[in-house]
Parts: sequence; structure tokens; C-alpha cells
Amino acid sequence: MGIEDNNRSTDELKAQIAVWTTLRTRGEIKRAGKELDRNASMKEALISYLAGEGWAVSSAEAGKKLIRRLLDREANAQVRKNPIHLNESFLCIFCGQQIDLPKEGIRDHCPLCLRGRHVDIVPGDRAADCRGCLQPTRFELVGGTVWIEYACTTCPHIYRVRAHPEDQIPHSLSVVDLPKSV
Ligand SMILES: [Zn+2]
Ligand SMILES: [Zn+2]
Repeated sequence: MGIEDNNRSTDELKAQIAVWTTLRTRGEIKRAGKELDRNASMKEALISYLAGEGWAVSSAEAGKKLIRRLLDREANAQVRKNPIHLNESFLCIFCGQQIDLPKEGIRDHCPLCLRGRHVDIVPGDRAADCRGCLQPTRFELVGGTVWIEYACTTCPHIYRVRAHPEDQIPHSLSVVDLPKSV
């Protein structure tokens, strides 16, 4: 592919991303996904865009899934500008404890077993309809703060969140040492 072709496809992708980010309903995303499945070069361009943003994506994924990942990403980028926070107490999906509101911030995972439920697109918005179990995949210590990386066990959603002071992080910082079941 020549440089001119490359620039043209980048422009096309940018224009297409602008359209995709206006999609709201499942039906709209599904239709756009089908179109994407028929357009191999656009699909490839979106995959390399998502990969460049640090997402592990495979070309075997359906177009609608790729577009959903893109929308998740854009929504996450939006959160600092436009936070929507509906904080509420919840019953832990994994260990069954009733979890109360934190003193400050948003609590989206259980402080005891650290599992969460996939209910947010943007942290705190409760706008995802997946409801799957969010499983910690990695702990990372950054400048004295622990970050928890999550993967949904039901869908491809992944994200990372700052741990709360009351979270029971394993001393080993290894997910192997998480409570197995309660
Ligand atoms: Zn729990
Ligand atoms: Zn999910």
C-alpha cells in the first residue's frame, strides 16, 4: 500500500469512526457491524487502530464486536470530561456480601473478593447490559497506588481501575492469591 493510499484509508477510518460514535442502539451497532464485515480494508484499519490503542483484537471478531469495543474506548476517553456517576450499594456477584457505598469515589467492585459485575460502559454509569462477572486479571503498583485490571468473563470488555484503600489486595499482588470462592 502506497503512502497516499495509506493516508486516504486513515481519513476514511476517521470519518467512519465519527459516524460509529453516534450509534446508540444495539440494532444500529449490529447493522454497522454487518457493513463492516463486508468491507475488509475498513475492518483491517479499525483492528489496527484498536490494537494501537492497546486492545488485543483478532480479525476473527465480528464487526459489531469491534464497533462495540471502539464505543467502549471512546466512552472511557470521555469520562474525564463528562462523568456520570450513579453510585449504589450492591450484592457481590461472587462472594454474596452486601457492599455499602464507599466514603468517597465510586465503588464498582467488591472490597473483599475484588470481583465486580459488568454494569458500566463508563465507570459509574451503569449503562452496560452485560451483567457478567468482572474478574481481576492483574494488579499493578504505580507510584504507591494499586491498579486492578479486569476482564469480563462473559464478553470481551476489559478495563482498569484504581483500587480503593479498603480493598483487600493480596500482599503478593498476584491474582492467583484471590479468594477462590466463599
Ligand atoms: Zn465479593
Ligand atoms: Zn461483560
